[in-house]
Amino acid sequence: MFLSVRKLSSVTRKYLHNFHISINQSCTRIRFNTQHYCTMSNDTRNKFDLPKRYQGSTESVWVEYIQLAAEYKPLNLGQGFPDYHAPKYTTEALAAVAISDDPLANQYTRGFGHPRLVQALSNLYSQLVNRDINPMTEILVTVGAYEALFATIQGHVDIGDEVIIIEPFFDCYEPMVKAAGGVPKFIPLKPQTTGRVTSSADWVLDNGELQKLFNEKTKMIIINTPHNPLGKVMNQKELDFIANLCIKWNVLCVSDEVYEHMVFKPYEHVRICTLPGMWNRTITIGSAGKTFSLTGWKIGWAYGPEALLKNLQMVHQNCVYTCSTPIQEAIAISFETELKRLKSPHCYFNSISEELKLKRDYMAKFLEEIGMNPTVPQGGYFMVADWSALAPKVDLTQEIDARRDYRFTKWMTKTIGLQGIPPSAFYSESNKYLGEDLVRYCFFKKDENLRKASKILHDWKNTL
Ligand code: PMP
Ligand code: GLN
Repeated sequence: MFLSVRKLSSVTRKYLHNFHISINQSCTRIRFNTQHYCTMSNDTRNKFDLPKRYQGSTESVWVEYIQLAAEYKPLNLGQGFPDYHAPKYTTEALAAVAISDDPLANQYTRGFGHPRLVQALSNLYSQLVNRDINPMTEILVTVGAYEALFATIQGHVDIGDEVIIIEPFFDCYEPMVKAAGGVPKFIPLKPQTTGRVTSSADWVLDNGELQKLFNEKTKMIIINTPHNPLGKVMNQKELDFIANLCIKWNVLCVSDEVYEHMVFKPYEHVRICTLPGMWNRTITIGSAGKTFSLTGWKIGWAYGPEALLKNLQMVHQNCVYTCSTPIQEAIAISFETELKRLKSPHCYFNSISEELKLKRDYMAKFLEEIGMNPTVPQGGYFMVADWSALAPKVDLTQEIDARRDYRFTKWMTKTIGLQGIPPSAFYSESNKYLGEDLVRYCFFKKDENLRKASKILHDWKNTL
């Protein structure tokens, strides 16, 4: 108080007898004569700190590693995106829409989804889930799968609701649940074998542990199949177990299926919404970025029963309201192209898995050769590998991160010019240690770049 009085001007000091400072538990008030000048909160937090609902969230791994890649220009197998072009008809469709004579082609479209796109999505998913999906009431088009997740979580999770999240998990699930006032309850997938983990199928949930997480407060479970980062494709038995618990405890299932078309034979993608009793309690999420290998287009969707979708529409309507018209039109045209050949091996949704399977096998082989133990994925376009056998040969003391996998991936980026993602980013704080021996690589890259990655790693191995 003394200091602040000393700071006053001499003129002001003359009137000190009219100067009042009152401090109570919650705030400090300054009054001069009859004028009220300032009220300061005594809360130790700054007025402009991140709101409580986002506290605990730190810079995401994407923000940090994209910056790192920009700075060191490594061969980037980190963030998940293909480094070559999408099917040509997609970009041609967008170019045609952009220069179309139709004056409305580049103006706002219907808020909950461009009519041509929701119709195409309805045509596709009605076949895939074997029920008629109403394009107007049972589908919402969003800004990427991110917004679909956000609208689902904001639209359904209330303060104190418990949400079950399977670890490792796509990193935004946790902050999204917390921002909605929900309480995340984590359960890790664990390698079921005591020997060497070879396939993502080896990573399993402990059914007893899962069962114990369900109770009256459980509002939602979020599943992700095919899985990022492990590449696990949940089988019918695993999904049945989850479905039965959802039904027993009246829980909403959010199924993040952005990699639905990238499943490697003999594995098959099972949609949990098709299991008995599940349509009415499932919201399924997809992504055009993943479906057509155009991650920069940022269009996604959620589909499910009208009663559940309504809540998402409310969040979407008051947030982005409507997504880009020309991009939605181009995606609609792209779906129409593929819908005509859905069963053919030439359909992109079929050929992409064959193309990726070769890349997967190539990567698994070179990781194996250099002494990193890869978990061969059943789907998606990521591979995790255990680098702990090489750890004694790497000096990570220059890196200051708390987590070993962060230190390793940063060191790799800076020293040998290859970027991966640290999997501890996909775990809750208390389970981060489970990801520390791992690194995640994206194998949806040109063959020449995968060959470069192999060479970089072999050259490095030869120096050890
Ligand atoms: N879920 C998962 C599992 C993902 O890997 C991603 C990243 N593509 C998303 C959601 C977000 O997808 P989008 O880029 O369409 O927002
Ligand atoms: N889904 C992609 C990945 O896991 C991209 C994530 C992102 O950029 N936020 O790499």
